[in-house]
Amino acid sequence: MNKEALKYTRLREDMVQRQIEARGITDQNVLAAMRKVPRHFFVSEALMDQAYGDFPLPIGEQQTISQPYIVAEMTQALEPKKDDRVLELGTGSGYQASVLAEIVYRVYTIERKHSLFIKTRKIFDRLKYHNIVTRYSDGSTGWKEESPFDGIIVTAGAPEIPAVLVNQLAIGGRMVIPVGDRHSQELIKIIRQHDGIEKTSLGGCRFVKLVGEYGWEE
Ligand code: SAH
Repeated sequence: MNKEALKYTRLREDMVQRQIEARGITDQNVLAAMRKVPRHFFVSEALMDQAYGDFPLPIGEQQTISQPYIVAEMTQALEPKKDDRVLELGTGSGYQASVLAEIVYRVYTIERKHSLFIKTRKIFDRLKYHNIVTRYSDGSTGWKEESPFDGIIVTAGAPEIPAVLVNQLAIGGRMVIPVGDRHSQELIKIIRQHDGIEKTSLGGCRFVKLVGEYGWEE
């Protein structure tokens, strides 16, 4: 390994130990994925040295790559398994999709900003994440043709839980979604059951807006 790669491998190990394991994330697949995915590739060159810090970072278009711990918490809450097909709404930098791609069979991810959509497709190809399927559209309506999904992860804040998304979950499928107003949200986990949904709160969070038909107005 060259010096540069070694530096980032160490920063990544430190991130996993101090920010993620120390705060109680136990899913071994999640920990292994976050030890592996080169988070610094998902930010601009100027921010690479900050990529493993305990905070979100700007990725352009007024959007952000989530704080590492939030990525770990949401991924663990999805209960991802090897044969799962997972839908992500809000590709952003592509980091969350890549973490999922290390664990599950296939990731479907939708982004509404064209420049981010183009950028992430290149990163996924470069890192050989051939199990990530990308789409440029309003993700708030989901991806009906590819449903049902074992998991749906929404990485932008919604005013309420879109019923259209719940309907695209398999029975036993999990959804993680930040719900609230424009400034702060609650991270909600939903499990779809035969006769309805089971809903739990994972606590407060802060995301950029989900904009679209079942999200906020621009
Ligand atoms: N998961 C990302 C972080 C996402 S930031 C990562 O790992 O980096 C939220 C993203 O959601 C932004 O890129 C924003 O453009 C996108 N977004 C907001 N509303 C959307 C919608 N209706 N459909 C698809 N993407 C949306």
